[in-house]
Parts: sequence; C-alpha cells; structure tokens
Amino acid sequence: MALVTGANKGIGRGIAGRLAALGLTVLVGARDTARGEEAAAALRAAGGDAHALALDVTDPATVEAAAARIRERFGRLDVLVNNAGVTGSGRVSPDRAHDQVPSTVDLAMVRSVFETNVFGVITVTNTMLPLLRRSPAPRVVNVSSHGASLTLNADPDGPLVALPPSAAYSPSKTALNAVTVHYANELRKDGFLVNAAAPGYVATDGNDHSGFLTVEQGAEVPVRLATLGADGPTGGFFGAEGPVPW
Ligand code: NAP
Repeated sequence: MALVTGANKGIGRGIAGRLAALGLTVLVGARDTARGEEAAAALRAAGGDAHALALDVTDPATVEAAAARIRERFGRLDVLVNNAGVTGSGRVSPDRAHDQVPSTVDLAMVRSVFETNVFGVITVTNTMLPLLRRSPAPRVVNVSSHGASLTLNADPDGPLVALPPSAAYSPSKTALNAVTVHYANELRKDGFLVNAAAPGYVATDGNDHSGFLTVEQGAEVPVRLATLGADGPTGGFFGAEGPVPW
C-alpha cells in the first residue's frame, strides 16, 4: 500500500506507475480530483491497482481526510513518497530563470515554495505516521534534488554553478534533506527507512520539459528507496549515481 503525493503527472506519476507494476496498491495523491482520477484510471488500464486520493499538501484538512480514507479502506500504509513539489518560478530551465536571484527574489514566492516543498512534507508525513506505524516495513521517500546539495552548490568548479540562481527552490530542497535526516533518526528504532531521492534532470512541466530524462527514468531512484529491504539505508540522499553529497 503506497501513497505518492503529486502523482497525477510528472515524476510522481512515473513513481506511481512503477510501484503499481511491482504489484503494490497505489494511492494517486492529487490536489485536483479529476486529474487524480484520470491518472489512477490510466494505471488501472495498464493492469495496476490504483486509486485516486484528493490531497493538497498545503491544506491540512485534505491531508487529514486522505488519512481517514486510507484508515477506513485499507487500514495501513507501507510506503509514503513525498513527491509533490513546486519550483516557485516555474522557470528553472537554465535559459529562462531570472526570478530566483537571492538579492531580488520575491519573499512571498520563497515562502510559498517552502510551504509546499518542506512544510507540506511535514504535514503529510506526520498525518500518515499512524498508518505507516501499522506497516511491518514502513518506507518514506522524500523527492529532493541535486540542487539541494550544499556541497555541489558551494563548489566553484562544480556542476551546479552554471545553473541559474535558485534562492527559493534549492534551499527548500536543502531544508527537505535536513528534515529527512531528522525523521530517519527519530524513526530508526521503529523500523522505518527514510531517505531523500535526487531523480535527476527529468523532462516535466516543472522545468518546461527541458530535462533529458524520462519520468520513468526519474522514478527509478525514488522507487528503489520505496522498496528497500530491511537492511537498506536510512537518513541518506541518493541519486542514480549513488549517494549525493549533502
Ligand atoms: P511536475 O510535473 O510539475 O509535477 C509536480 C506535481 O506536484 C504535480 O502533480 C502537482 O500537481 C503536484 N503538486 C504541486 N503542489 C501540490 C500541492 N500543494 N499538493 C499536492 N500536489 C501538489 O514536476 P516534477 O518535475 O514531476 O516534480 C516532482 C518532484 O520532483 C518535485 O518534488 C520536484 O521538485 C522534484 N524534482 C524534479 C526534477 C526534474 O528534473 N523534473 C529534478 C529534481 C527534483 P498539479 O498538477 O495540481 O500542479
């Protein structure tokens, strides 16, 4: 039983499809009910067991209602993938981003990005925790980004320096990584494995389809972390190439 937030499109939809193909029952979290139903129907048509679940990560009432529905209908949750995310500008593709320069960034935009990418993850995780505690092998995956890496950002010769400034999006993912480590530490004793995933640069609406990976490729790392065996890592940050520096 897996819940993927923001699963109506993009990487989340890819994750939901892959988990369904592996035989898990997948709850397609979506803030727009019609788009969630459409995605769930497509997964069912492909042979998966998928159900739409209305859920806006910035609206605690919808998260509570989603948890109540899972409790009544399924009784527990084994996998939570916190995938829903926003860039703030919608223009993180290298040739078009000008609005996340730190000295001129719109603070309201920074707040709204943190609201979804950080506070939304805490809201969803804490609301789903009682259901995850009923699982024999609970797994939580937070979909982060290579842009979260302070090490890569601070390297003047590193791969991220050529990218546009990212005063809202990248710091929100750095904060998400920090939150991930603290959840992992708290929940280690309870058998949880909590990790952050860097999917790579994936062609989605989030970057105006400038990415070079498919959503299926972008889903690979999150799905691997969602299906870890008992001896798997916790409190880590992983990309397709292996551990990503913090
Ligand atoms: P996307 O195609 O824009 O999909 C984002 C998803 O999040 C959509 O389903 C969107 O729903 C949902 N969402 C946004 N705000 C939400 C909210 N408040 N409540 C519930 N759902 C919400 O972008 P994507 O590229 O697949 O991004 C998925 C995740 O991967 C994000 O966390 C992103 O930061 C991360 N990521 C992406 C890349 C990349 O190269 N694409 C790289 C690194 C990390 P709507 O359809 O309703 O807007």
